Amino acid sequence: MSVFHELLDEKSCLLADGATGTNYFNLGLETGYPPELWNVEEPDHVLGLHRDFLAAGSDLILTNSFGGTGYRLKLHQAEDRVAELNTAAARLARTAVDAHQQATGQRAVVAGSMGPSGELFEPLGALTHADAVAAFTAQAEALAEGGVDLLWIETISAFEEVDAAYEAAASTGLPVAATMTFDTAGKSMMGVDPAAYAGHVGGKGAVALGANCGVGPSELMHSMMAMRGQTKAALVAKGNCGIPEYRDGKIHYHGSPELMASYAVLARDAGVAIIGGCCGTTPDHIRAMRHALDTTPVTPIGDVAARMDQIWQVLGQPWAHVPHVPDQPSPDDDASGGRRRRRRS
Ligand SMILES: [Zn+2]
Repeated sequence: MSVFHELLDEKSCLLADGATGTNYFNLGLETGYPPELWNVEEPDHVLGLHRDFLAAGSDLILTNSFGGTGYRLKLHQAEDRVAELNTAAARLARTAVDAHQQATGQRAVVAGSMGPSGELFEPLGALTHADAVAAFTAQAEALAEGGVDLLWIETISAFEEVDAAYEAAASTGLPVAATMTFDTAGKSMMGVDPAAYAGHVGGKGAVALGANCGVGPSELMHSMMAMRGQTKAALVAKGNCGIPEYRDGKIHYHGSPELMASYAVLARDAGVAIIGGCCGTTPDHIRAMRHALDTTPVTPIGDVAARMDQIWQVLGQPWAHVPHVPDQPSPDDDASGGRRRRRRS
């Protein structure tokens, strides 16, 4: 049995970590610079953030490898460093988790983050299934080499992409989790709805699936409620820390630790097994979520309709705030392509 399954059995609800990119910005990462290079250039920063999330109570941390496919690294002339950067990412997370266990006796899981390629699949674009599988396989094998416990596909918006990434991740023999981003009036950017996603990826044998990033905790919970009952896989909620707003050339997240703590408890009570934060979520938010999960008794879900009213009262009405789409390129856009290139951050 994998450490992931053991911990999930033991605790029934795992707290994941928060943002990577937006926390690195506070440590000096320049907008547009690939965070994956920090695995070799600033390993102490990468280790430090892992340590901070573990100390805050995370049971599962994601490697700093979101943009680690050859397609993403090519934007920074680093496409020949896929193996090096992903293996380094995995080793740093492994080191942090092992040190945490030695110091505290607490176990945690290392999940190897695999974000989207940033390319459009044919016939809309030029990317073939075979080329995508090859790129994701190179990343997945390097993450496995570095010692991850499972592979964690995230911020996906199209079936074609999760199909290729899943095939590559599963070929390593490790358990696979996969989350999609639902940010467009209840669907992904490519028009996939949460229930269809859960059925599709659950059918592949994913150990966990769900939603990450997108709009805010309310929209994330809306996706979770749609996925309930659609799969036997563990549900994952990794929501942004509030609603992203574009101001003065930067994206801001205003979610308070209290809001994220409320979201964590509601998600757990709704049956979500793995709960974390995405963009804007700091170790302070994770600490508040840990405290709330540990001190708030579980309320059975009961009547779903009544419960949903309660959820929206606490988190706000989902999709009431259309996410602000910046007219100017976001910090993660690159000059070479007009598509939005999202980064888990
Ligand atoms: Zn995010």
